[in-house]
Amino acid sequence: MKAKINRQFCLASRPVGEIKENDFEYREQPIPVPKEGQILVRTIYLSLDPTNRIWMSDMPQYMPPVEIGEVMRGIVLGRVEVSKTPKWREGDLVSGLLGWQDYMVVDSETVSPVPQVDGVPLSAFLGPLGITGLTAYYGLIDIGRPQPGETVVVSAASGAVGSMVGQIARIKKCRVVGITSSAEKCRWLTEELGFDAAIDYKTTELKTALAAACPQGIDIYFENVGGKILDTVLTQMNLFGRIPLCGLISTYNAIEPVPGPYNFGQILMKRLTVRGFIILDYASRFGEALEEMQQWFREGKIKYTQEIVSGLENAPKTIHKLFNGDKIGKLLIKVSE
Ligand code: NDP
Repeated sequence: MKAKINRQFCLASRPVGEIKENDFEYREQPIPVPKEGQILVRTIYLSLDPTNRIWMSDMPQYMPPVEIGEVMRGIVLGRVEVSKTPKWREGDLVSGLLGWQDYMVVDSETVSPVPQVDGVPLSAFLGPLGITGLTAYYGLIDIGRPQPGETVVVSAASGAVGSMVGQIARIKKCRVVGITSSAEKCRWLTEELGFDAAIDYKTTELKTALAAACPQGIDIYFENVGGKILDTVLTQMNLFGRIPLCGLISTYNAIEPVPGPYNFGQILMKRLTVRGFIILDYASRFGEALEEMQQWFREGKIKYTQEIVSGLENAPKTIHKLFNGDKIGKLLIKVSE
């Protein structure tokens, strides 16, 4: 099904605390027409990501925030419907930083090609074989530098990035411990994905559970969450441990300045390396990681799950699932066929 108009969600107000449906405004526009050098892209999948919350705010951030009234920014996988450039043909599949809408006209350099691979669902290119897989790969390999036998802990472990981090760390022969929010998610991590242990931080005393799951201490902590979890992990890091700082989701909805980390001194005492990164910094190297990820994928070493909600109209009421933990794996909206 192709929409006959261009449905859009624009930013109506900057959220205070959690995102509310009325922080978005629904609009209908004619389908835009590309000029020379441009293409018309139809959205097939829209990725919902924690960073959407950052873009909706006006906090200092790694790219300009979405302006009030502007179409909400989102990572999109789509199909070229009309091409006015030799670079793309009608029917090509592309992905890029586009928007919460059915159609978008963009310059030819704005998007990247998405391959069609037999047996691989298209949606995987917004998950393990897309930005989330790449984030896990470079954060862990480049910053974490895992060595066989080391212990890797990852928070938001049942999410899109975290579930990849754990599996790559297993491939690198590390002991892997995931932190997540339910017994069901813990079971998925250990029984399906091969994590050595998983901890439900909602029902367990994290400090004790971590010490039991990491008898040799923690060499790498892949940080997705921040807050109390970071503070607890800091006390159990080994000398010269590494912390790839990927995200701080527990702070994104904060309405007051977030205090801490209270155990910051451990970075000195344990001579830790903490490095923040944004996956876009690695764009020139995406090819090498994708080759290796695709190989692991074909060999069945990387498994994944996705929660796919149908209908662009459901995006504003679905995004909260990223923040309340009501999903496993990658969260996507299916916008069209
Ligand atoms: P996820 O699929 O992991 O979804 C977010 C998960 O975070 C939830 O499922 C929930 O899992 C957990 N969570 C939410 N709120 C809290 C909280 N208050 N305390 C603890 N856990 C919480 O999203 P992604 O995999 O896409 O992103 C994971 C992290 O990586 C985010 O911080 C994101 O900003 C970051 N990121 C960074 C990138 C970069 O370039 N640096 C690129 C992509 C993502 P649970 O049920 O386990 O609590």
